[in-house]
Amino acid sequence: MLEKLFKQHGIDSADKLDHQRLLSLVNSMADGVIAVDHNMTIVLSNGSALNILDVNSSLKGRQLAEVVRPFDKNGNPVDIESLVAGTRTQTTNRDLLLHYDDNSAANLYLSIAPVHLGFGRKGQRGFVLLLRDITHEKSLEEERDEFISVISHELRTPIAIAEGNVSNALFVANKTPDGQIDAIKQALHQAHEQITFLADMVNDLSMLSRAERGNLTIEIEEIDIKTLVDELQETYSRQAKEKGLGFEAEAPDDIGKLNSSRLYVREILQNFITNSIKYTDKGSVRLAIAREAAGVRFTVADTGIGISKSDQEKLFSKFFRSEDWRTRKTGGTGLGLYVSKKLARLLHAEISVKSELGKGSTFSVLVPDAQIFKK
Ligand code: ADP
Repeated sequence: MLEKLFKQHGIDSADKLDHQRLLSLVNSMADGVIAVDHNMTIVLSNGSALNILDVNSSLKGRQLAEVVRPFDKNGNPVDIESLVAGTRTQTTNRDLLLHYDDNSAANLYLSIAPVHLGFGRKGQRGFVLLLRDITHEKSLEEERDEFISVISHELRTPIAIAEGNVSNALFVANKTPDGQIDAIKQALHQAHEQITFLADMVNDLSMLSRAERGNLTIEIEEIDIKTLVDELQETYSRQAKEKGLGFEAEAPDDIGKLNSSRLYVREILQNFITNSIKYTDKGSVRLAIAREAAGVRFTVADTGIGISKSDQEKLFSKFFRSEDWRTRKTGGTGLGLYVSKKLARLLHAEISVKSELGKGSTFSVLVPDAQIFKK
């Protein structure tokens, strides 16, 4: 009986089996599939297509333009039927957007292929569309591009200054062996400063890429807090002094030890301190340490430019830098606090900020003893 019906339509049972196989294949695909005939009427679609288009009834028999309504990147509607009808060989497009009823949008990957539709001798010409939601990939691409542009921009100035100063120093050294030692010192000093900036930035970047790839391992050790504070004092009082700022670090004599990652605690504090020095023009930076029930609190307070309430909400976002000109006149990547937050999470530590525009900022991190969070 079935045989007879297939025969009447020019379909033999082998064709029928192929058809069923193809249908289950199409239905199992993660990409949305829509096939249209030459009139742009949908003849076949799969579940993924319904998902991407956010519709819940079958698409079969509906006009393509009714269900697929893409927009270009300038927000103009795209005539999907002309786009499809004009396709001679398989083409792909990654720049279209779909808008949903809840005002959200998705980046759409759309591939269009002219095909011979249907089975057996009654087949006709039509098109197969593949649809994929590439919003996530697109945002990663954008982030990567933004990242590269920030980095290349930020690296240009220190490299040029360091290069200029070193070649100046060499020039002066070669020409006049005596009497010019101050000029050489000055040039080398500036080169050193810029190289330190580069080293800090590369440090942020390597931490960032490890954090993003989930590659940060944590090594808990016993930290002697006094020693850590002394080291920080030694490094940063010099930097602060060069800017005419005071730097004080104080820890109670009986502050004792803390089990945590020395590397990450230090990294967080370094970020706080370098920021405080960077964003303070007069006054001082102060590092204070206190033991609390939940762990050890490290506080870095400055008398600098301060942070507005609205900026405070964005401080820990990737690449965030205040629009304030006083921030913009210094170099930076907007990664230090983002990385600090990631490291703090690994340590089960909590970062908090208090700041008043024009008065100063206080960043603190409460680091629990690793014995506590291991339990
Ligand atoms: P960067 O300092 O490289 O720009 P961060 O992530 O360390 O990046 O800091 C993000 C932003 O937060 C800075 O650009 C600045 O606007 C603001 N900020 C951070 N610390 C301070 C501070 N102590 N005083 C004023 N602004 C600060």
